[in-house]
Amino acid sequence: MPVESIFHRLEALLPKVQKPIQYVGGELNSTVKDWDSADVRWALMYPDAYEVGLPNQGVAILYEILNELPGTLAERTYAVWPDLEALMRAEGVPQFTVDAHRPVRAFDVLGVSFSTELGYTNMLTALDLAGIPLLAVDRGEDDPIVLAGGHAAFNPEPIADFLDAAVLGDGEQISIAISEVIREWKAEGRPGGRDELLMRLAESGGVYVPKFYDVEYHADGRIKRVAPNRPDVPWRVHKHTVMDLDEWPYPKKPLVPLAETVHERFSVEIFRGCTRGCRFCQAGMITRPVRERSITTIGAMVDNGVKQSGFNEVGLLSLSSADHSEIGDIAKGLADRYEGSNTSLSLPSTRVDAFNIDLANEFSRNGRRSGLTFAPEGGSERMRKVINKMVTEEDLIRTVTTAYSQGWRQVKLYFMCGLPTEQDEDVLGIADLAKKVIKAGREATGSRDIRCTVSIGGFVPKPHTPFQWAAQADHETVDRRLKALREALRSDKNYGRAIGYRYHDGKPSIVEGLLSRGDRRVGAVIRAVWEDGGRFDGWSEHFSYERWMTAAEQVGVDVDWYTTREREENEVLPWDHLDAGLDREWLWQDWQEAVSGAEVEDCRWTPCYDCGVCPTMGTEIQIGPTGRKLLPLTVV
Ligand code: SF4
Repeated sequence: MPVESIFHRLEALLPKVQKPIQYVGGELNSTVKDWDSADVRWALMYPDAYEVGLPNQGVAILYEILNELPGTLAERTYAVWPDLEALMRAEGVPQFTVDAHRPVRAFDVLGVSFSTELGYTNMLTALDLAGIPLLAVDRGEDDPIVLAGGHAAFNPEPIADFLDAAVLGDGEQISIAISEVIREWKAEGRPGGRDELLMRLAESGGVYVPKFYDVEYHADGRIKRVAPNRPDVPWRVHKHTVMDLDEWPYPKKPLVPLAETVHERFSVEIFRGCTRGCRFCQAGMITRPVRERSITTIGAMVDNGVKQSGFNEVGLLSLSSADHSEIGDIAKGLADRYEGSNTSLSLPSTRVDAFNIDLANEFSRNGRRSGLTFAPEGGSERMRKVINKMVTEEDLIRTVTTAYSQGWRQVKLYFMCGLPTEQDEDVLGIADLAKKVIKAGREATGSRDIRCTVSIGGFVPKPHTPFQWAAQADHETVDRRLKALREALRSDKNYGRAIGYRYHDGKPSIVEGLLSRGDRRVGAVIRAVWEDGGRFDGWSEHFSYERWMTAAEQVGVDVDWYTTREREENEVLPWDHLDAGLDREWLWQDWQEAVSGAEVEDCRWTPCYDCGVCPTMGTEIQIGPTGRKLLPLTVV
């Protein structure tokens, strides 16, 4: 039976809301398949506004792959702004997809991709608007399977009660495998109902179904154990790793947004994973090992993507793009190819040393030369050793000097505050470093027209990293250090005016910390926040720390216990049954080495140090022939 579009009902509401264009769909390269041509149907959600969600690579890739799969269709849905939410509630309009404006509840799967935990309340809004019960236990045979993916799904425990399933790691192959399991189960006449479908998914060990696991607690609140409650469900669920990125050259048909979005460019992921071993970086830890896309495939993807989309900017994506072993050739090749055209190149996330200033020059040949971002992350040499960010002050000054002397006028320095073992002087060290950067720039250029912006984020300890046991700094400490740093920067008569300072207060990091390392009991807080009107928590204008704290108190959750408490080695962590491949003993040893300031090299260029990923996951490092050591930098 075809499922009717709700667009005629939505259309009447659009003149009354902000940015109505974000809800109409029909973008270049979007796909609408005939409902009856498919027997497996996915609604893919990015739980934030269209302007943030549309450029998301994970959703874009799965959207294409699933729509290419015979008998399968996928449509997209995003979080609606509160103005439209209110109207939809008043008029009884359900959560819809932007492609064919079909009600989300009609799909077989609602797949939600979480880059950050701050999208949890938006998922609840979507479920509620869709008419899908918030709690998995209340869902019936006609409700979709609510499935989480993305980095936050590596600890889905705080949202476990709202999820039917979660998937860890790369989605390309597992989304196809899930589709086939659903297809088979439907073709057999849905034996055993949704419970059997979930069982079929869980048995493989590649899909986590929270309801098949029971959590037992000690009297003091720590977890005693997490155990499967059905005989055929494995004790641990493993992550998925795509080993040959050349076999998955997506996106082939990039979506071109109708409304303004945060990134408007064609992005090609040039490699996946990072083994630099920055101890704070969850993305680096959970995406191991490094797998490079070949220069030939990258060239072909850029060529095709530009033709298919008409974008005039190409971004080369990865966790640190200049680490691609052939980045020099890629940069020169693309800069030559597009010289004189209106297509510009960018490295949205990369590391650069003097070699890569050349690279940055290459990239700016056909575009803007606005600024360079360096990410030393820690303000003192000691702090950088603790976090394993192997950048010396000398390296940094040498690199920025090269940048300034080659015509760059603006550099941005990115740091974190609240890192494990951090003292006041580590944060004040940021001011010294920034002044040295300006001094070096003035000396190199003979000009006072040199600027540097210091940007600071709050550190949040994340699951599956060596800092998963660490105490998070309380927000008072973070705020006090940030204030002292501001004073140190402002009070300097010689350099103060040349240094910009951007920071956020420490409160949002505490909420992020609660959600990152929380267990199933934290779900009650999320629900209470949502019921109290919590929406778009990643947006400072919508975020309310007080709302989160009040909700936690109401449901009896001690926020400090989850955030500022250091864990002991043998404490069962809420995500221990979810396998990112990292050996727990190795993580613990690395945490101990962090405290003593011992550094770990990158296993791309030094022998394997047995983090556990490759033997556990059956993977290996895949890099080209010219590995190099580079410093952190982003070309903005
Ligand atoms: S197992 Fe060895 S080679 Fe593989 S990611 Fe870990 S340290 Fe690197």
